[in-house]
Order: sequence, then structure tokens, then C-alpha cells
Amino acid sequence: MIFQSIHTVILDSIDDHIAVIDPLGTIVYVNNAWKNFSVENGLGLDYDWMGKNYFEHCDSSTAGSDELTARAAHGIREVLAGRCDSFVCEYRIKRNDGRYTWFLGRGMVIERSDDGSPYRIIGTHTDISERKQTEDLLRRSEEKHRILFMDSPDAYLILIDGIFVDCNKAAAVMLHGERSMILGYPPEILSPDFQPDGRKSSESAEERITEALQAGNNTFEWLHRRLDGENFYVEVSLAAIELDGKQALFVAWREITGRKKVEAELKETHHKLETLSMTDGLTCISNRRRFDQVLTQEYGRHIRSGKELSLILLDIDYFKRFNDHYGHVSGDKCLQQIAGVIGKSVARLGDLAARYGGEEFACILPDTDQHGALLIAERIRQGIINLAIPHEWSDIADCVTASLGVITLTCHKEESASEIVARADELLYKAKDLGRNRIEYNDVYSDQLDVTLVRLVWQESFALGNELIDDQHKTLFLNSNKLLHAIIESGTKDEISKIISHLLDDIAKHFIDEEKILESVGYPLLIQHAIEHKKLKKRALELAEDFNSNEIHVGDIFEFLAYEVIKKHMLEYDREYSAYISAAV
Ligand code: GH3
Ligand code: MG
Ligand code: MG
Repeated sequence: MIFQSIHTVILDSIDDHIAVIDPLGTIVYVNNAWKNFSVENGLGLDYDWMGKNYFEHCDSSTAGSDELTARAAHGIREVLAGRCDSFVCEYRIKRNDGRYTWFLGRGMVIERSDDGSPYRIIGTHTDISERKQTEDLLRRSEEKHRILFMDSPDAYLILIDGIFVDCNKAAAVMLHGERSMILGYPPEILSPDFQPDGRKSSESAEERITEALQAGNNTFEWLHRRLDGENFYVEVSLAAIELDGKQALFVAWREITGRKKVEAELKETHHKLETLSMTDGLTCISNRRRFDQVLTQEYGRHIRSGKELSLILLDIDYFKRFNDHYGHVSGDKCLQQIAGVIGKSVARLGDLAARYGGEEFACILPDTDQHGALLIAERIRQGIINLAIPHEWSDIADCVTASLGVITLTCHKEESASEIVARADELLYKAKDLGRNRIEYNDVYSDQLDVTLVRLVWQESFALGNELIDDQHKTLFLNSNKLLHAIIESGTKDEISKIISHLLDDIAKHFIDEEKILESVGYPLLIQHAIEHKKLKKRALELAEDFNSNEIHVGDIFEFLAYEVIKKHMLEYDREYSAYISAAV
């Protein structure tokens, strides 16, 4: 026996199959594992391995196996021949049941003759079938994954350290390019504003991805640019994975460009419908719904800006009678023509003309003071008269006319947009009460001063009976109050100077108009009256100069307006001609 008991005990306890052979290939020792394996393969328990030839046995038991097995026997032969000291190889043997057992075969010289040639060679065979199976499974699973990844109809990409390291065919198709064109690049190259010269694009992909992941949002929409420059929308799904021991990001893309296009078309259709639903079908100007919407918006905006907001409400006079006598078709036509006049009269960007309902119209005039609003209101009133639509059944004219209420105010949180409409409506009905075909407006300065500070109050008894003269007198009150208000509230020099020049222009025009009327009625004291006008104009110019050289006091202005212009001139001198103009009407 070549091995003593302690060695045989150790060798028998090893799972590897071990055989020791002499230079002729004769087996001189096999361990228990070797014997057990031969029993499993059909040899009897008492089969005696001693003296058997290793190679003959190998050749018979490996018949039908592949060339790997032959390599094991060849390895041993090489060691025996002294061409190498040892060898290692993996090979497999076809078992009786047709399945293969994989071995790791090793051969090594363990004893040499005196001349150095191999004398004893140990061959071991370790069963590595299990490891081989696991490796095989792994390989096949990797292969399967590779096939799934590569051939999937969905687009997949893999990022490591912010760089594309892989992508499948579907991703390349979606990108209209080759896989190699993005591998090694960061996702920024797909940004619609990517600059090939290295300038940073507006959207950093890293930030976008980090932001999405931090928000727990693994799926989001992203606009990308294909490699041929065309933009496309994708729904991106992200998953953090480990790849070859590195943190990687698995990115799945689903193209949603078509859906986005449909969404945009729907939005546009919705917008068109919304516009349609904001327009009055008969007159093609904005409808009540749009009016309410804009008024609410503007009201809020004016609370913030503190600027004046004006609103005009208009109602056609005796329109029921018009309809009754000319018919509804003519009524509708009339409404369309009046809408045309209103639409044309409010031309400033931000102004809104709307059909408020029935034969009522409304205009929203943002950032517009009373002077501006009254100008527009008068333009509309006159424009309607100019249409010259016959209205035989009106009590006040032989054509269609309208009454208007004009409100100008600064907006406050405590009030609401609907209150403005209510106040404009009151003024409109005041215009109806006072005879129709006229404009009524609020006293802006009493509204704003809200206490009886220095201001001039118009009374109906001041009216002299000529519409133009009375209207101009009223405007004089209005502008005088405006001036006093601006001075008291420390308005800017520019503001006050504008009001003064406005006032002077109005006074000059009024004097001319008044003198013409007085001439037309043959007023005998016209020359004296004209001299009074000249004196007042001179004094007004002096005051304006004083203002420009900073020598003005509110008392001086008040005295001039209240005493010289109103009390003495309007209420005394002007009153003297009232009988002449009344008689002339
Ligand atoms: P007032 O001077 O006081 O405003 O009298 P009015 O007759 O104009 O007022 P009223 O409110 O009594 O009548 C309004 C009329 O407007 C009733 C209706 O015949 C007419 N109307 C309202 N909407 C339309 C419309 O869409 N088309 C036509 N043709 N007429 C309308
Ligand atoms: Mg009405
Ligand atoms: Mg009416």
C-alpha cells in the first residue's frame, strides 16, 4: 500500500475523486469518493481498481463524451510524459442516465524516479456540476435579459454616472439614429436646446432626474430632441438598479408625441369653444359671461394698482316700442348696429365692449379717469344718433337714442365688482329719469373725499335751461373739484398742471360756445358779458402762472373758482341771460 492509514483516512474523507497512477497509467490507489462514483455509474461495490489501467478506463467511460473529456485524459498523459508538472481542466462525462456530470480535473506529479521522471501521478476529479448548472442558468438568464432588453418594442436606456452606457434597438429607432450615437454621452444631447459647442442647455438633465426622484416621481413627461433634430415627447420611467456592482439608472421611454399633439389640438378647440361661448351670437361682441369675468379680473387688478376704473352701462331708449312697431328683425339689426358703434368707440387695448343683456350694453374701461370715460360715453351717444335709425315712436327724438350711466372709481377690497355695476345702473336710470338720450355720471370727488372737504356742489337750480351751457357748467364744477382735490391731496405738479390746462381749455371753449348762443338769441348785453369772460380768462391765466412759479394757495384757487367764476359769474351774470335763452328754446 503506498499510502499509510492516516493519509487514506484523509483522502477517503474528501469529496473529490482521487486516483494515483504509475508511469504506465496503472492505478495504484483510488479513494472512497472515486469508488462511490463508479458504483453510481454501474460498477459493483467490490470492483477492484488496483492494477487497472487508468487510460483504458478513461477511454471506455468517456466514449460518447465530447472532446473536453478527451482533453482531461490528454492532460494526464502529458504529465506522465514529463511534458508538464500539472494540468487543470474542466470536462464532462456522459452518465448512464444520459445526463452529464461536470468535473474539474487536475493532474500532478507527486513522486519522481531517481532520473527525475514522473513516478507517481495523482489525478483528482471534482464534481462541479452544481456550479456549472448555476453558471449555465445565470448565463441563460443574462441572455434572456439581453434579448428582452435589446429586442423589446419599448425603448430602454441605461445611465451610469450621468452617461448613457447602453440602449436598446427601440430607443435607437425612437432617436432616429444608431445606438453608438448616444452611448458615452449625457442625456443633455437630447435637450431641444442642446448646444453642440458645449454651452449648457437650459435644462440640466441631471437636475431634472434628481428632482423627479426626490419628489418620488419616477414617471414624468419630457420633451426631447431626436438625433435628426426633430422634437418628441416621451413619458420617462426611472428605476435605480445595480449593474456590474455600480449604481445605474434604468430608463424606459414611451413616446407620447401623438398624445401631446391631440392634447394641444383639444386645448385649441377648447379655447375656440370658450371664445365662442364668450361672444354674443347676435352682435358678435363679448357676452355677459365675458363681461363678468373681465370685470372681476380688472377689479382685482385695480385694487392693486390703485388706478381709476370706469364702467359705462347703456340702455336703448324706448326699444320695446321700436320692436313692437318695426318688428324683431329690425330690432335685431338695430342692436347689431349699436354694438358696432360701441365696439368702435372703445378702441384701447384692455377696454371691453359687451352685450350686457337684451338691449343693454356695457363697457369696461381700465385705467380710465372720468374725463376719458365721459369722452367715450359721449362718442357712443353721438355715434348712435349718427346711425339715424328712424324711431317714430320715441318720445324724445325721431331716431334711436340711448341713455348711459358712467361710473369712475378707485377699487377697494371692501367692495365688490357687482357693486360697481349696481352704481352704474343707478346712474343709467337717473339718465332715463332725467329725459333719456343723455349721460349721467358719479361725482368722483365727493366719492373720493367722502367728507365735505373743500368742494363745489352742483345743484339743479344752477341750470339755466340750455343743455350745452348747463353741461359745460357741470363740467366746470367737475374739473374745479378735480383741481381742488389734487391740490388738497398734494397731487404731483405734473398732475395739477394738466388739470389746470384742462380747466382753462374748457373755460375758453365754454366762453366761445356761450357767446355764440347769446349772439344767436340776440342777447343785448353780449359785449359786457364777453368783457367779463375776458377778465376771468386773464385772472385764470395769472393763477396758472402763479402755480407754475409755486406761488399758489388753495385759498386763491378756491376763491377764484367758487366766488369769481361760480357765485359772481355763473349765478349772477349768467342768470341775466337765462330769460333770453329760455325764450329762444
Ligand atoms: P326704456 O327707454 O325705459 O329703456 O324703455 P325700453 O322699451 O327700451 O325698455 P324695456 O325694458 O321696457 O324693453 C326692452 C325691450 O328690448 C324688450 C324687448 O322687446 C327688446 N329686446 C331685448 N332683447 C332683444 C333682442 O335680442 N332682440 C330684439 N329685437 N329686441 C330685444
Ligand atoms: Mg332695458
Ligand atoms: Mg331700453
